[in-house]
Parts: sequence; C-alpha cells; structure tokens
Amino acid sequence: MRKYVIMGVQGSGKSTQGAMLASGLDLVHISVGDIFRWHVQNHTKIGAQVRRIMAAGELVGDDLAEAVTAERLAQHDWNYGFVIDGFPRNRRQAEFFLESYDIDGVVHLDLPDSEVRRRVLARRLCSGCGIDYNLIAHRPKEEGICDVCGGTLVTREDDTEEALAVRLHDYHDKTDPVLELFARKEYVATVDARPGKEEVQEDIRTRLGLPAYKG
Ligand SMILES: [Zn+2]
Repeated sequence: MRKYVIMGVQGSGKSTQGAMLASGLDLVHISVGDIFRWHVQNHTKIGAQVRRIMAAGELVGDDLAEAVTAERLAQHDWNYGFVIDGFPRNRRQAEFFLESYDIDGVVHLDLPDSEVRRRVLARRLCSGCGIDYNLIAHRPKEEGICDVCGGTLVTREDDTEEALAVRLHDYHDKTDPVLELFARKEYVATVDARPGKEEVQEDIRTRLGLPAYKG
C-alpha cells in the first residue's frame, strides 16, 4: 500500500498532479477541493455551508476540511493506497494525520508567488455552466464566451490581487510549519511546479522512485 500527500499553493496544479499520480498505480485520489465542489454541485448541507463561506469571500475553514477528509478516508475503498491533496492544512492536522497513517512520501509543488499570481489572476469561470477556463493554459475559442454553453466568462469574486495576497499570506503562515513537520518525519520531495504538467509528473515519479507516467 502506498500513501502520498501533495502540498502546494493554489494554482500549483496539486489536484491535476494528484490525479496523474494516482492513475496507473491503482491509488485513490482524494482531493479536498473536489469533495467541496461535489457538495456544492449536489446541493448538500455541506455544499450550502461552502457556498455561504465563498459568498462572504472567505476560505473554507480547516475544521470543515478535516471533517470531509476523515469521512472520505473512512470509506476505506483505497485498497492499494491513496494520494491526497488539500489536506492537512495546519500543524495540528498534520500531527494527527501522521499518527493515523503511514505516509510514504510528501510532494511539495513549489511555485513562486509571482507565478501563482499570474496563474490565479488568469482564471475565468463560466457564469452559465460553471466550467473553469484559464487564459494561459486553456483559452476559450471565442474570447469571453464559454465553448460548452455560450455563457459569459467571469472572474471569480475572490480572484483579485488583494484577496490573493491575503490567501498567499495565510497559506505560507499555516503550511510552512506543516512542511517543516513532514520534513522531520517523512520524505519530502520538493518539485518545481513551473514546467508543463507531464514534466512535473515525471519529476514527481522519479523523486518517489515510481514507474514512469504513461498518460
Ligand atoms: Zn458554460
């Protein structure tokens, strides 16, 4: 059984890399962000809570992230192991997580703040169907219009310079101690998140001593 954690600031591609790492290794990919999105799309109680938090321009709290992660892991469908991203989010959670699970490796996707800013501020969202666009990596065919439904593309309310600066500060504040803790107890592979996603994945697998990514 293999268990990996992917850490990285928003825009570093941790969910994409988590899915790529899980594929071909029979690992279950647990993305906390995806779980929250699922709840929102399916109008659950947690989804309503997340919507309220986002509407207020705030971040989903650590306790809620912990609750959904615990619930997801308790399903025990990960016979060969898991890749988790978006958790743990603070030192207390990391300590508990390390006591509960044998982690084989931690991947730290390293992205300079300037590049985070460039990536996050290029994000667009369809106001009709909610699909994500990125003006750097995934451009719509017609500017400002959704390829899927023809809806108008908008910037997320919380993707402003000011809001991002607050989130980046908050991220480093809480995550740097988690990385320090992991580095003392587990193998942490710091990987440059700037190249293309295939290249980043190859780097991750080389560092973890895993077979090459087949796509
Ligand atoms: Zn659309």
